[in-house]
Amino acid sequence: MYDVVVVGGGIGGLTVAALLSARGMNVCLLERQSQVGGCIARVEFSGYDFEPGMGLYTMFGPGEIYEKLFSELPVDLPEVALLTSPHIMRLADGTDIRLDTGDLYSISGGPASLAERLAESIKVSGGTVRLNSPVLRLSYDESGAATGVDLLSGERVFARKAIVSNLTVWDTYGKLVGLNRTPSEIRKQLNTLHGAGVFVIYASIEEAAIVRLPAERMLVMDSEGEFTLAVSGKRAVTFTTRTEVEPWFSYQTSEEDYEEWDQTALEQFWNRLHAALPELGSDIEIIETANPRTYYDLTRRKLGMVLGVENSLPSPRTFLPNLFMIGDTISQTATLQAVVQSALLVTDELTGQNSQSTK
Ligand SMILES: Cc1cc2nc3c(=O)[nH]c(=O)nc-3n(C[C@H](O)[C@H](O)[C@H](O)COP(=O)(O)OP(=O)(O)OC[C@H]3O[C@@H](n4cnc5c(N)ncnc54)[C@H](O)[C@@H]3O)c2cc1C
Repeated sequence: MYDVVVVGGGIGGLTVAALLSARGMNVCLLERQSQVGGCIARVEFSGYDFEPGMGLYTMFGPGEIYEKLFSELPVDLPEVALLTSPHIMRLADGTDIRLDTGDLYSISGGPASLAERLAESIKVSGGTVRLNSPVLRLSYDESGAATGVDLLSGERVFARKAIVSNLTVWDTYGKLVGLNRTPSEIRKQLNTLHGAGVFVIYASIEEAAIVRLPAERMLVMDSEGEFTLAVSGKRAVTFTTRTEVEPWFSYQTSEEDYEEWDQTALEQFWNRLHAALPELGSDIEIIETANPRTYYDLTRRKLGMVLGVENSLPSPRTFLPNLFMIGDTISQTATLQAVVQSALLVTDELTGQNSQSTK
């Protein structure tokens, strides 16, 4: 029996579990994957360590959110540094505009090292992190009160005080609570929420092309919309653009259909990259791609929707008094710092302490 069971080891679940453990609660975090991090888990292919996101990280300064968080934890914040290289926005006409990098940081080892440090903190404080432990649903007693969670393995893990879901709002209700137990008002609200998907290219890039580019982090506008570029390590580059999620799930009846769809998306995005960034030339080679189906496989987020939702349900509370939510579908923005900020608030509520987390 634990005080709190946290379902999911993304940045949200990890932050809550690390803080609760540091404040003396007996916590168990259950993560279905073999590594923590969710959207910021380590991405390694062919010996390259890729930036899992867009590489835009804020609030690491003195007195800011991460300093407050780590001041409570028995481990150190990973090494961070203010970004020294420029952040450039390239407009559709090719004009480059230098964006303010004043408050952007690079994290040594990437954001995955932040997730890994939080997992270490949970263990150092006496908490439990269980990997490869997919949670199926909440368990209930005869009165309908949630008592803990049932794992896919058939095991039941009990929570004395609370269960914290790091799943998206859709999955918290659709999977953990069960839609049949979810009040119809909430079901209606969930139907109105929509998130975005992303298509990502992980590529290797020659030093010569990096030198030709105006920056190692770019926001590029073109006639199709926009995409980002983030160089990580020496020669790894991540390109990210938005995509609608539904077509990735609805129009394909076979594996071949899906592969064809992925190939077409890749060709389109590849052409966009070269048109908008002629500096790349032939000094770039595709290593892997990720699309909403990949994100679904990776994180089990409904339809692989990432980057939060428009008009999110504003509260981490649910209609069950001991079930709380944490994550980017209930935070103000889909950024690490916003999720960490709401994790501090959830922890304060569960412990009755005040981390003075508002900046
Ligand atoms: C492509 C991309 C680029 C981004 N770029 C940036 C950026 O530059 N800067 C920034 O600040 N933010 C960025 N973000 C946003 C940020 O990464 C996310 O908002 C944040 O990581 C989400 O964390 P989370 O805790 O809400 O959820 P997730 O990361 O989705 O974590 C949920 C966890 O729950 C686990 N899980 C799911 N189902 C189960 C189950 N049944 N049982 C047990 N575990 C389960 C998953 O495996 C996962 O580990 C980016 C996001 C994406 C996708």
